[in-house]
Amino acid sequence: MAYLMNQTQKPIQNLLKNFSLGTLSLGANRNGQDSSGLTRMFILKKNGMEYVGQLRISPEDPIVKVEIFNGNYFGEFKQPEVAVLENLTQKVLSKVKKEKEISDIVKALIKDFMECKKLEDTEAEVIEPKSQEEERDIEAMFDRLNREYFNGKINATVRWGRDVKTQNKSGFRYGSYDENKKLIRLHPRLKQSLVPIYVLEFTLYHEMCHQFAPSYKRNGSWQSHHPEFKKKEKEYKNFKDARNWEKNNWHKLLLPANEELEAVKN
Ligand SMILES: [Zn+2]
Repeated sequence: MAYLMNQTQKPIQNLLKNFSLGTLSLGANRNGQDSSGLTRMFILKKNGMEYVGQLRISPEDPIVKVEIFNGNYFGEFKQPEVAVLENLTQKVLSKVKKEKEISDIVKALIKDFMECKKLEDTEAEVIEPKSQEEERDIEAMFDRLNREYFNGKINATVRWGRDVKTQNKSGFRYGSYDENKKLIRLHPRLKQSLVPIYVLEFTLYHEMCHQFAPSYKRNGSWQSHHPEFKKKEKEYKNFKDARNWEKNNWHKLLLPANEELEAVKN
């Protein structure tokens, strides 16, 4: 039983590590701020929907209160509402904290609140404000690359592959292209923030090049990364950086996203 407890007692934040809470924009500072704190409305855009919420920071308990007025926001997540709310609170606060015009009182309140949180949860982690969901929109990425490098001539579907919950032993396959189905699959571990966007983009670009410069048979064997292919591949603007990153970091992708080594050992 103790073993099981350790497995499930992960900090709540970690449940949402690779999750997008939506794109956050803070409303204007309408009520101003005074010794009683600060009240701000905000909007979250997620999956094409807008959700309205409010942040209240005050010296009373609770110091920080974040609410979402459209309850169906929480329906967008598999995680418990409390975990979503906790992460959202971190996200909203980290954005407010960066504003120049917030008063010292509010700053001190935020600091108090954050420190309490840290004590509660030593691994507390602030989710980066940039929406990964939008940055890693592979369909939009496909369209952009198609326009920029192929005159819109590549005709393929792009999809995230399914992750397997095991450790890869031999190597990591970033993506694949199925010529018959005209289907590009990208490895879902490329969604992680540790992977630079240009590496994801290069993976997609590489697979698109397979349609541009198809495989052929020479001396009885199939050539897919032939000279014509490589020439096209090098046109990608971050080619060298992407290759370097792959060379130095591929081993980080051998584990399923978010899993610790113990979790996959049998
Ligand atoms: Zn290839």
